[in-house]
Amino acid sequence: MTRYVYDFIEGNKDLKDLLGGKGANLAEMTRMGLPVPPGFTVTTEACRDYLRDGRMPEGLLAEVQRHLELLEARTGKTFGDAKDPLLLSVRSGGKFSMPGMMETILDIGLNDAGVEGLAEQSGDEHFAWDSYRRLIQMFGRTVFDVPGAAFDAVGPGEPRDLVNAYKKVFHDHTGRDFPQASHEQLFLAIGAVFRSWNAERAVLYRRQERIPHNLGTAVNVMAMVFGNRGEDSGTGVAFTRDPATGRRGVYGDYLRNAQGEDVVAGIRNTVSLHDLATIDPQSHTKLLSIMERLEQRYRDLCDIEFTIENGTLWMLQTRVGKRTPAAAFVIAAQLVDEGTITLDEALQRVSGEQLAQLMFPSFDTASAPPPLTTGVPASPGAAVGAIVFDSATAAAATEPVILVRRETNPDDLPGMIAARGILTSRGGKTSHAAVVARGMGKTCVCGAEDLILDGGTVTVNGRTLRAGDVISIDGTTGKVYPGEVPVHPSAVVRFFEGEIGAHGDPLLAAVQRLMIHADHKARLGVHANADTAPDAARARRFGATGIGLCRTEHMFLGERRRLVERLILGETGALAELLPLQRADFEELFAAMDGLPVTIRLIDPPLHEFLPPLEELTAHVARAEALGEDPGHDGVLLTAVRRMHEQNPMLGLRGVRLGLVIPGLFAMQVRAVAEAAAARAAAGGDPRPEIMVPLVGAVQELETVRAEAESVLASVPGAPPIRIGTMIEVPRAALTAGQIAGAAEFFSFGTNDLTQMTWGFSRDDVEGAFFGRYLDLGIFAVSPFETIDQDGTGELVRIAVTRGRAARPDLTIGVCGEHGGDPASVRFFHEAGLDYVSCSPYRVPIARLEAGRAAS
Ligand code: PEP
Ligand code: MG
Repeated sequence: MTRYVYDFIEGNKDLKDLLGGKGANLAEMTRMGLPVPPGFTVTTEACRDYLRDGRMPEGLLAEVQRHLELLEARTGKTFGDAKDPLLLSVRSGGKFSMPGMMETILDIGLNDAGVEGLAEQSGDEHFAWDSYRRLIQMFGRTVFDVPGAAFDAVGPGEPRDLVNAYKKVFHDHTGRDFPQASHEQLFLAIGAVFRSWNAERAVLYRRQERIPHNLGTAVNVMAMVFGNRGEDSGTGVAFTRDPATGRRGVYGDYLRNAQGEDVVAGIRNTVSLHDLATIDPQSHTKLLSIMERLEQRYRDLCDIEFTIENGTLWMLQTRVGKRTPAAAFVIAAQLVDEGTITLDEALQRVSGEQLAQLMFPSFDTASAPPPLTTGVPASPGAAVGAIVFDSATAAAATEPVILVRRETNPDDLPGMIAARGILTSRGGKTSHAAVVARGMGKTCVCGAEDLILDGGTVTVNGRTLRAGDVISIDGTTGKVYPGEVPVHPSAVVRFFEGEIGAHGDPLLAAVQRLMIHADHKARLGVHANADTAPDAARARRFGATGIGLCRTEHMFLGERRRLVERLILGETGALAELLPLQRADFEELFAAMDGLPVTIRLIDPPLHEFLPPLEELTAHVARAEALGEDPGHDGVLLTAVRRMHEQNPMLGLRGVRLGLVIPGLFAMQVRAVAEAAAARAAAGGDPRPEIMVPLVGAVQELETVRAEAESVLASVPGAPPIRIGTMIEVPRAALTAGQIAGAAEFFSFGTNDLTQMTWGFSRDDVEGAFFGRYLDLGIFAVSPFETIDQDGTGELVRIAVTRGRAARPDLTIGVCGEHGGDPASVRFFHEAGLDYVSCSPYRVPIARLEAGRAAS
């Protein structure tokens, strides 16, 4: 028969799955011989069975009863006794801590008779009746959902009177008397804690923190100890190091003559742990030595809850404590210095997400006004600027601006580059604004649906702002503030940029040390996605060892768009004009990345993206015709736009298909690469270009492009050897990777398109449309465009790696989709055996850290 209850003495800290975090740690402390009040834990399995069947699992109550009797024997008190009752606390505790959803009921076992006994036995009438009042209140709220406000409405009073009033509230809301049978109280409380697992706020919290919904919570039943027994009693929380900065030395708060909830509720002012040394030196000394032992046992920062009852110290909880990202780095390095953990372990104590947090500038929120609204936090950071509503104004602005749009499109790029931040009222984390902003490391809040954009104003919750009004947007929280909120730049970024050294700064020294170790351990290389020399140079400073993706289409924007237009209209002369421009771009890039590989991807997007939108052009031409004017160039363009119009451009004429259809386009690009490399080599540089063909689905496509490229390369004297490879971003390419490897010296997974085509989701449309619903339904826990879907898209990656390497053992394999900079995905690519990941420059340190973590 399943066993559902474990005495504290039977468990240990590694049994979190079964006993929950709190139960496992109470057991560990008990084993260590620390002063933990006796008790037992009802397992998470009992909770799962209860929630499945809708009733207490068979045998559970009998088992609880047996453990209760042991508890009675150990404390010398009897549960439900009228003279000197054993009182219990009942607390929830899942595998992962879920603050805010924790249910706690104290003083279980008190009733009308017991309260008199307790008063007499303790010699403290007030204490006894106040305990009874607390029980009725907590029990009513937790077990019978009596609204907290109903109790609050009673107001202050003598405990004995409050008990009577609370009993009446209880009766009014439940239609029954407060249960006097102590066993009934206990069993009802255990059931209520089980049910609290599915309370709305708990479900919400788990969704946010990506905690699985099927774990269930354990229930900890413990003999009560009282911090409210007078001035020699009290309760406190403490950390073994400062959880905000990581600084060494204990840190905590103590509240005299109080119970735990009083500290949390902030009812009275606490004193610092330091002051406990004067109030109760003995307990203080004992506490410090316990904290030291806990740190040694857990080999990490611990936080604890304790109570002192008439001068006797009791430990009520401990766990490896939460900490800020900065403290995580500092503490990991400290523990290495102290000889507690190895550098490999230290890498496991920090994460790419934490490093990302440290790389963004941040608002000083203490001095921020209430936010105007909150949108989707799409690209972290803190940006302040004057509102502008169009890209051209943003691009021309001399003061810092925030570009505020309903949504953005490729035409907004110059404005997005110029703006400090981007705020949109539509779209989610994979909208154009979000993806582009993340790529640039620019702050972005999107999908702020409260914003009503109307010509030259934006109205939000009744307040109207105009162009030029200053706002502050927080891409980490999604909050939008009126006016200027002070910003702190990131010291970690300044350190990576080489602007400041690490010396004398514990955080920077820790980051430096862990990054060195990560690079030392990593098997995956980290390259960057960069199209310009400044981006490439930054990526290099951030530790990139190559460019994994240069999107050449980004070189066709601005003035050069005209040339593309002419190309589409069939003017081959345009290619000759584009050639020197591309060559110059590549020369700069090769110079910035001298000695490192630079993967140049041939043009990818459908050409009509470079033409004016159909509606706009149609309107222009119609207006001209209505006025009896000749639409001229616009008329010619309109014909071309109509000719090129596609229902599904992402599945249309783009990538390698363009190269096969537009004569001379790829050849021009290949020539520009070869000539730029030759020029760099002639100037004494060490250019290492590679040519990458996008959107290949069949080896024949690649063979055709390859043959043309090779003949161009052969015709350029002085160019170094240039490898030719392909992106794997069409499912068919992954499946036929064995064939494709015959014509490719390297693969690079384009996981943006591969995800889009594996799921059949349009990467530009889905976020706002239905991803929210999908996340709610748990169809996935995170957008597959953010973190690689290991079972689907990831399986195609594994297949392509296996088949590609079988055909060509020395095939180089990387990834250049957005996933290349996502911490969870980096681990997957390590495990799938890739050679490198490539990501935006600002993600390079994060990917380096994760590559090291994956390998250690
Ligand atoms: C990809 O599809 O993952 C990729 C890197 O190419 P792009 O995002 O330019 O389509
Ligand atoms: Mg792609």
